[in-house]
Amino acid sequence: MVDHGDQTAAPVPCYRCGVCCVKWQPLLGPAEIRRLSTELGITPRTFKRRYTRPYPLRRGWHQLRDSGTGCVFLQWDEGVSGCSIHTVRPQVCRDWQAGLDRRECLQGLRDFPGPPLLTLKRLLPDATDRGQLMAAVSQQAES
Ligand code: SF4
Ligand code: SF4
Repeated sequence: MVDHGDQTAAPVPCYRCGVCCVKWQPLLGPAEIRRLSTELGITPRTFKRRYTRPYPLRRGWHQLRDSGTGCVFLQWDEGVSGCSIHTVRPQVCRDWQAGLDRRECLQGLRDFPGPPLLTLKRLLPDATDRGQLMAAVSQQAES
């Protein structure tokens, strides 16, 4: 979750596919590291050691670690993603809005076992066949 971009498409409800948190891990500045450490009841030093790696391009900044399957705070419950620090999550994660102009959301829509039909219908309002809708989503996710 690094680039918010300028979203031109209407936002859609997040269907918790988790693709964004698998692909991106937020950058945290010193103030946010202090805030998160306080929220978690640990020192900034411990927070950085446990959950981040240094970000070489910006002094004092760190990036949340990739656990190998996505953000270190990403968790799964029966195939549905969640954030284990949801109520105190980084600002960049709060600002991220699901939308049909996001490749991550399109990828999730394509790969999620039961993509909500309403979301698909917003993508192609005139289509009636689910196979056609999914083919269009696949095409857009890879474009
Ligand atoms: S902190 Fe939470 S919302 Fe942000 S990338 Fe990690 S798992 Fe996703
Ligand atoms: S990629 Fe989009 S739909 Fe999937 S979890 Fe992230 S915001 Fe939600």
